[in-house]
Amino acid sequence: MTKRRDLLADAATRAAEYLESLDERAVFPPPKPVETLRSFLEAALPEGPTAPETVLAQLDEIAGPATVASAGGRYFGFVTGGALPAAVAANWLATAWDQNSFNNVSSPAIALLEDAALRWVKQALDLPATAEGTLVTGATMANFTCLAAARQRVLADAGWDADEKGLFGAPPIDVIVGDEVHATIFKVLSMLGLGRDRVVRVPVDDQGRMRADALPPIDKPAIVCIQAGNVNSGAFDPAAEIISHAHKAGAWVHVDGAFGLWARASKTLAPLAAGLEAADSWATDAHKWLNVPYDCGVALVREPDNLRRAMSISGAYLLASGQRDQIDYSPDSSRRARAVDVWASLKSLGRSGLAEMIERNCRQASQLAESLRRANIEILNDVVLNQVVVAFGDADRTNRVIEAVQIDGTCWAGATVWRNRTAMRISVSGWATTDADIERSLEAILKAHREA
Ligand SMILES: *Cc1c(COP(=O)(O)O)cnc(C)c1O
Repeated sequence: MTKRRDLLADAATRAAEYLESLDERAVFPPPKPVETLRSFLEAALPEGPTAPETVLAQLDEIAGPATVASAGGRYFGFVTGGALPAAVAANWLATAWDQNSFNNVSSPAIALLEDAALRWVKQALDLPATAEGTLVTGATMANFTCLAAARQRVLADAGWDADEKGLFGAPPIDVIVGDEVHATIFKVLSMLGLGRDRVVRVPVDDQGRMRADALPPIDKPAIVCIQAGNVNSGAFDPAAEIISHAHKAGAWVHVDGAFGLWARASKTLAPLAAGLEAADSWATDAHKWLNVPYDCGVALVREPDNLRRAMSISGAYLLASGQRDQIDYSPDSSRRARAVDVWASLKSLGRSGLAEMIERNCRQASQLAESLRRANIEILNDVVLNQVVVAFGDADRTNRVIEAVQIDGTCWAGATVWRNRTAMRISVSGWATTDADIERSLEAILKAHREA
């Protein structure tokens, strides 16, 4: 027993030291530690056991230095977010519990926690209290879950039971997306048998927003996918207009709001995402802007029955408990207790802490953009949220600046192509990002710009 306690204490100490070191170390690991890890991992499967404390020490000492400091305050790659202290700690506790979160019988505690976590997410995002949902690996699977419900529903409306008969012989479904739709939607459409290529793409404006005036006439059965938060510009599709147009034609409207949906947690930012509450389903991430550890996404469907029809299973050993069983709403069966992380984050932040975190990141993005602009650097998007798209001249020069910033290691931002321009994409989505982090990052970017 003592040994186990020592091991867990050792893990906690090592983790704390890791997190405390993030402020000093290069955000992206230099080549050497990655090479060291590579050689270490070339070893064959060991014949015999290794002491747990040695396993832990090797991970910490050999793999740790090769990690990316995305949990720190100066990682601006993709749309990432760190992990709030309460969420990390709760996640460890839940790992020790090792609960299977598939139904009430496998774990009454997690069934209750998932119910509570989903209720709080709906309250935080001001979405209908009656919507049902599930916690999945990320927004990709949340999109999958929602669109599986959509597929089932729109075909049922057309007199076809896709659950029983599949798609062979089914009436075709029109899937309508904006031209700037996230790449994961295509993967999801392919997994659902709806096809990547047969979508109808609606033109977008200069911020990547779907143009409501360019929507095609809609015939049932149809699904319209709108976006809350473009991965480059952070812009929102005009939800109210699109949803009312689509609903008039009886189409299902799905919202991919992986990070943008969290704007609704702030009174000042919520207007960006106004009207989305009228949609039929919503996908978002908790591991991005809610800052819970990987992996965690949220799928919500307005009419619980639509999600249940797409996801429920039955089996001799699965006796209906008369309560809400998570398995009836989830594409997974056995899975980890993501609800603990979500509940712990929202409990530790409260409404005010959540709003503060979202607003702070947006303010930091605006300030960074403003300072870059003052140095005559071109900002390619309207910085309405937490995303900044930056060009440092032509593609060659921009790539050189991005590379120099990444090698310098003060902060990390990646490259993107935005409206045919090569650009640096900066996403401020971490709870740990301070104004001092923004200042230090700005200096590093300006230095790379001067020296390019
Ligand atoms: C990140 C993102 C996704 C994919 O999310 P994962 O969590 O990586 O599965 C989908 N859509 C949008 C708009 C995103 O930003």
